[in-house]
Amino acid sequence: MGVRVKDLLSVLPPELLSTATEALKSMKVSPDHELSDDQLTEVYRALSAEVGSTKVYKLLRDAGILRERLRLKAFIVGDSGVGKTTFCVKLATGIFKEGYKMTVGVDFYAIELIHDDKLVKLILWDLAGQERFGFVRPTFYSGASGGFIAFALDLPSTLSNVPGWLEEVRQNAGEVPCILLGTKLDLAPDNPGALRVVKELGLHSYVPISSKTGENLGLAVKTLLSACLR
Ligand code: GDP
Ligand code: MG
Repeated sequence: MGVRVKDLLSVLPPELLSTATEALKSMKVSPDHELSDDQLTEVYRALSAEVGSTKVYKLLRDAGILRERLRLKAFIVGDSGVGKTTFCVKLATGIFKEGYKMTVGVDFYAIELIHDDKLVKLILWDLAGQERFGFVRPTFYSGASGGFIAFALDLPSTLSNVPGWLEEVRQNAGEVPCILLGTKLDLAPDNPGALRVVKELGLHSYVPISSKTGENLGLAVKTLLSACLR
């Protein structure tokens, strides 16, 4: 399962030790602590920034900490304004950008993270302002293993539109797992109606999130990866 702090440090070359120790220090973990995927991802990112992702991957693979490196394409759909782009930007950069404006088109974001001894490069596709056009978007959905359907907790009409979004997904991407996201949890309480929608539509699961506070963002991604990598 998880790798212990001291075992991780023992496989790193001397020139990477200070970067790793620095990243671990902020987590306040003891040498015997078993790192969670999120913690290992954090160390991984710090090391990658230093010497590049391929080198760090090889090191951890040779040490038996990682077993596989893979790419996964996923989508996020939902009504305009529910916070899809904000969610993607926050995941990819760690920054909550208020009033983020998009150019028209389709955008994608690369998010690299460790999940069950795999290094996953998640490519998350975002509609980038094209929500109003109901036409088929083959490139957008092509090859996607699954994705998010988002609604805003402070705007119930966006939950009513989830069935329409699912229909578009099913037509273009097939029977891939879909996770329902209730966004802006910092602005409104959770909505029990979301779980009913999950049941009625046969969605994979429901995660309420806030891109502003960061609440459940990691859980949302973990849920997607677990569903897609089964
Ligand atoms: P999109 O059209 O679905 O891509 O929505 P955007 O990402 O552009 O977000 C629409 C608005 O909602 C922006 O003003 C965001 O700052 C705001 N927003 C997005 N996520 C959150 C959140 O978690 N909390 C709060 N308070 N505002 C958010
Ligand atoms: Mg957008």
